[in-house]
Formats: sequence, C-alpha cells, structure tokens
Amino acid sequence: MSGSAIVVGAGIGGLAAAIGLRRIGWDVTVLERSPEVGEIGAGMSQAPNALRALDALGVGDRARAAGTPFFATTNLRDPSGGHLMRAPSGGPHPLLGFHRADLHGVLRDAVPPESIRTGMKVTGFAQNAEQAEVQTESETFSADLVVAADGVHSTARRLLWPDTPDPAFWNYTVWRGIADLDLAANEGCMTLGADRYFLTMPLTRSRVYWALGAQAEAPRVRYPDEREAVRERVADWHGLVHGLLDATPVDRVLHHDITDLDHAPLPTFVNGRIALLGDAAHPMSPDLGQGAGMAIEDAVVLAAALAETRDAVTALARYDRERRPRAQWVAKAAHKNGHDALMGSALNRRLLSLTLRLMTPAVFAKVSAQALDRLWGWQPPALPGR
Ligand SMILES: Cc1cc2nc3c(=O)[nH]c(=O)nc-3n(C[C@H](O)[C@H](O)[C@H](O)COP(=O)(O)OP(=O)(O)OC[C@H]3O[C@@H](n4cnc5c(N)ncnc54)[C@H](O)[C@@H]3O)c2cc1C
Repeated sequence: MSGSAIVVGAGIGGLAAAIGLRRIGWDVTVLERSPEVGEIGAGMSQAPNALRALDALGVGDRARAAGTPFFATTNLRDPSGGHLMRAPSGGPHPLLGFHRADLHGVLRDAVPPESIRTGMKVTGFAQNAEQAEVQTESETFSADLVVAADGVHSTARRLLWPDTPDPAFWNYTVWRGIADLDLAANEGCMTLGADRYFLTMPLTRSRVYWALGAQAEAPRVRYPDEREAVRERVADWHGLVHGLLDATPVDRVLHHDITDLDHAPLPTFVNGRIALLGDAAHPMSPDLGQGAGMAIEDAVVLAAALAETRDAVTALARYDRERRPRAQWVAKAAHKNGHDALMGSALNRRLLSLTLRLMTPAVFAKVSAQALDRLWGWQPPALPGR
C-alpha cells in the first residue's frame, strides 16, 4: 500500500520516519514549528542497533562517515584521572560519536526540502475512519496517517493521551558543551564521581563534546554562568576536564533537566491513524545513549509494517506491538542506570570501582558485550528497495 502521511517534527525521529515512509512509496509532508530545520550544538553516540537501522533507511554509510569511534564506555576514569578501565587501542569499535547537527544533517539531506514545511506549529489533531487531520496555527493538513515525532513535550501526547501525566523530573540535570580541542578518539572517556559523571567524546574537526550529569534538587534552576556552575562541581577533577571547560565558549554551554515517563509508560503508542514516535512516545534518560537510536528503530519498524499491509490502522497496531515493549524496556534500563550512577549507594559504587580495577579490559569487553547483546543486537526488518 502507499498513501499519504503527515510527520510532526523534523528532529532525528521525524526525519527518520519521513525517510522510511518515502522509501516505501508514501507521500510525506513534515511539519516543523521552528523557522529552520536544525539541531543544537551538542554530541551523541549511536550503537550498532541504531547504525543498522540507519542502514535500513539507506543512510548508514553517510552517517558512519560523519561519526568518530566512541571510547567512553570502555575508558573509565576516577576523578583524579586514574584509569578504572582502559579501552584496548586499535581494532573495530562498535559505537560512534556524532555532533548532533552532523547526524541530523545526514537525515535532513535525505528528505527533499519541499517535503519539509517550517514555521508550522501543530496545535490540534482530528480523525475519522478514512483520514487524519493536523491543525497548525495557519493551515490544516489531512492524510491517511499522522506520525507525531514532536519530542519529549509532545503536543500530540498531551492532546490525544490526556490521562498520561507529563514526563517527570527526577533530580537529574545535565550540562553539555562543545570544546574547540584536538583530542584523539581513544582519549574519549567517562569519569565517574560519587554522584556525578563527566563524559568526554572527541568528534570530527577538532571538536570535543563533553557532558556533566549531576544531581539537582529542583528543576529549571539556571545559573548566570553555566560553565562556572560546571567548574564548581568538578573543582578537584583531573586536568582533561578543566582543559575541556577552558576550551568551551561560555555561550556554548547548554543546561538541560532530564525527564522521562518511567512513572507512567504509555499503554499504547497509537491512537487510530495517529502514531507517536521517538521521544514523544518514550522519552528516556541519556544513560544508555539510546533515545535517538530508539527513534530511528521506530521509523524502520513503522515503514516495514506499512509496507506489508494495505490498512494503516492494522499496520499501526503492529508498530505498537513491536515497538512499545522494546522502547519501554530500554527507557526503564536507562532510568535505572542513571539512578545507580547518580543516586546509588556508596557501597555499590565502591564495589563497582573495585571490580573494574580488578577486571582486565578483555574480560570487561566480554561481560559488557553479553550485557548489551539484547540492546545492541537488534536487527531491523528489511524495507523494500528504493
Ligand atoms: C543530555 C542528553 C544526551 C543524549 N544523548 C544521546 C545519545 O548519546 N544517543 C542517543 O541516541 N540519544 C541521546 N539523547 C536522546 C536524544 O537526544 C533524543 O532521544 C532524540 O533527539 C529524540 O528525537 P525526536 O525526533 O523524537 O525528538 P526531538 O529531537 O525533540 O525533535 C522534535 C521536533 O519536533 C518539533 N516540534 C515540537 N513540537 C512541535 C509542534 N507542536 N509542531 C511542530 N513541530 C514541533 C521540535 O521543534 C523538534 O524539531 C540524549 C538526550 C539528552 C537530553
């Protein structure tokens, strides 16, 4: 079957959905509220499951060319700089780090510009047995299907799932920045403190993404100088952390509270002809580096379901059946990881630190691979050729 779809949101999830739908012959219009299609200046990693999903969408090679091997999950340091675990150098590396704008740009370039309407803030939805309707501040659009990929504060979720509470803050905040620094990929690392962590992720073109995750008592607390707020929280940490902060212009420091739906996972991602996708469906903490990866997986499964049946409602029911258990499992695991890293007991942290120091990198790699197999081993359904 081919038909027409409106995609709400031109983030990674919305663009991936547009690419998948176009690949199976659907006519797609993307509605984006911002005046321009773009991504903010920060970084992200993508794991093998997401890279395979990008392959299924036909953009895997271009995405890989924009990424850098990501070592932070196997280069673990303590705040003084000592290595708890040191990644073996050389050999293939399963994870890639990206500047968000680069990965987003790969997806945007795969969607014809005339299919994306910017400055279109979606304000309402309606549907009947044949069509779904999307209202913006200026126009109304109708199509066989609507994919709402409008992010963590989704308007679609709020309007169409009125009984679902909003994503909740759980005392977790993150600062992010891009430093102008030349750092070898294998110097990427994660520094683990008692109740905070500092991620270092070298990117292409002499840029290094960093992120500090820490506890916060209240949401929406902002500082006149956000870089100084970071510095205070890592005052006696090792030199690389301070080198990165020094090389980051103050106005490039972003501060973001983490919220998710761990307290109230959605009972379904689908309402008739309207499907939620990405953070709109399953907002998650960054602790497994999987939020965007799950959105890309969603897009492939949605397109595969629509390629196989003539009935959009049947296809969406299948999308919900296949995506919800996995995406909510990942969101729950990410929440637990974040909770353990920032709010876990001191005894557990000491045990982890001791175990890491005693393990060889080879044993650590084997144990991690086993633990991550279900997450990283995901195989996308094949989409019909272009
Ligand atoms: C600190 C941090 C680190 C992260 N690290 C990683 C990582 O390493 N790896 C990873 O895979 N994920 C990571 N994530 C998660 C990832 O950023 C998100 O999961 C991903 O961006 C979600 O994409 P999306 O398209 O669903 O939503 P978004 O990126 O939020 O896009 C939503 C789009 O919809 C538009 N929109 C919203 N409302 C409307 C409306 N009413 N009308 C029209 N348009 C609208 C917005 O302008 C936006 O363009 C991280 C997240 C955070 C906070």
